[in-house]
Parts: sequence; C-alpha cells; structure tokens
Amino acid sequence: MLFNNPPLTPSLQQKGDNRMAYVGRFAPSPTGPLHFGSLLTAVASYCDAKAQQGQWFVRIEDTDIPRIYPGSEQHILECLEAFQLYPDAEIIFQKDRLDLYEAVIDQLHVAGQVYACACTRKMLGSNHIYAGTCRNLSLAFEQQAIRVKVEDQSICFQDRLQGQHCSNLKEDLGDFVLKRRDGIINYQLAVVVDDYLQGITHVVRGADLLDNTERQIWLAQLLGYPTLSYMHLPLAMNAQGQKLSKQNLAQALDPKQAPELLQQALLALHQPAVALDRPEIMLQQAVAQWNTDLIPHSIELEGHFL
Ligand SMILES: [Zn+2]
Repeated sequence: MLFNNPPLTPSLQQKGDNRMAYVGRFAPSPTGPLHFGSLLTAVASYCDAKAQQGQWFVRIEDTDIPRIYPGSEQHILECLEAFQLYPDAEIIFQKDRLDLYEAVIDQLHVAGQVYACACTRKMLGSNHIYAGTCRNLSLAFEQQAIRVKVEDQSICFQDRLQGQHCSNLKEDLGDFVLKRRDGIINYQLAVVVDDYLQGITHVVRGADLLDNTERQIWLAQLLGYPTLSYMHLPLAMNAQGQKLSKQNLAQALDPKQAPELLQQALLALHQPAVALDRPEIMLQQAVAQWNTDLIPHSIELEGHFL
C-alpha cells in the first residue's frame, strides 16, 4: 500500500465506520443504445444488491468522448425509468469528474508509480503486452500517454460465478495506460476511483470485463482501496453464437416493452418466473426469489428482442 490514508474519502460513506455491507452499481457506457445484454447486467446487479438489503447506484461511464453515441445517454435514462430501476443515489457522470481522476494520477506520479510513454501505435505494433520501453526515460507528462507500473506478480480473485481467475501482471498484462495521449482518462482508472468514492463493495457485470479485473485490483491496491467482490455474468449470445453487443448491432431496448423484456431477462438468468405486471412489482418479486446459483454458464437467446 502506498498511502497510509487513502487520498480521497468516499462521498457516500455511511455514518460512523459502518460501511454498507453491500453497495452495488450498474455502470453503462453510452457508446450505443442499451440492448438486451445490458438489461441482464442491470437486472442482475439490481436484484443481487436488493436481495442482500444493499444499495444500488448508477454511473454513466462517459470519459471516452469520441466513442459516445448520440442519444444513448438519454436512452439509458429512459430505460431506467421505464424498467423502474431506481438508483439509491443521484446518477453520476464520469465526464463531470475528470479532476478527480487527474488528482489520482498526480498522487501516483508523486509515488513514482506512473510514467509518460511516447510510443506510437506503430511502435507498439501487434504486441498486446507493453514491454516497458519508456519506463525509465523520465519523459515529461505533457501530451503523452500515462502508464502505471506493474510488478512481476500474480493477482488472483475468486469470482462468484466464474471461479478463480488469475493473471501475472508483468507477463500477461504489462504496464497499462491510465490516460491516453489525447487526454482521455482510461476506463480502468475511472472505474477504480469511482468504485472507491461511491463505496461500492460488489461488482456485477458482464464477463467481457473479466480480463480487466486484475488490472483494477492492482490499481486499487496501489491506491490503498479495498478489494471488491466480483460476479461476472455470462455473455448473452444470439443463436449464431455471436456476443450480443453494440458492434453486432444488437437491437436497442424498447422502453414501451419494459414488462415483457424484464420477464425475458429473468428467464435468461434462469430465475423463477415472474408474472407480467408493472416493472416495480415484477422487480420486487424477482428480488424475493433471486438465486445466483441458478444463473447459467452461458446464455443463448432467440426471439424478437435480438
Ligand atoms: Zn512507451
């Protein structure tokens, strides 16, 4: 641990030193409209939090401004309203919080844990693992990518659905980017900082983010933040075995069909059936019946919502 006292205090820390036993979140990126796969994550994170008398927050991960898809932020908000997935605190938008992430980079800089990297994409070539070329060059930070140092060390965590997952930081991942040369704050940094500041204890998200987890645990350790509990949901596939994603042009959720879609989402998660009703009532029932042991290892979908 680098800092004896974590540099930033969670804004939502509970009274006294009783941190909430469970604080979960749904953190979509507005890089396209929400689709059925996003709904699975929203519903699972919500039910899991509520089934454990926890709180559930929503955070919009919109630091990657060039990738924001017009109207998708509005669509996320409309869907949350239509599905009556009401967060327990005001929704936060990462693009309003860039100063916080910069402050954390400064702290890591003071501690000698980050450095500027001048490598171009061409220089990096097809090597996915950064060789540490700029690590000892002491380049000025202006107009360069900022990387965090990793050590030759394995990080393992026990995922609630996927079991044990490990990576060697140096061999599998390499020093990774916290801030891009164009000034965009990387997802890894913003996630770790906000999970800490929001007092998040449990992360429920799609398995496409599984391989990011060791980086995030490492970063949290460097900053003296607690390690979180993780549950990575199986990705929803269509009948052709393709991942349901914005890239595959998965159909946007139709807020007008919220009850039907909610029913489909609970079925896809292999939860007990819930009768069609107002989403709020359906969610109450889903929470009461919520059982993570029933969640399948793979989710194949068919039907009109693809
Ligand atoms: Zn470099």
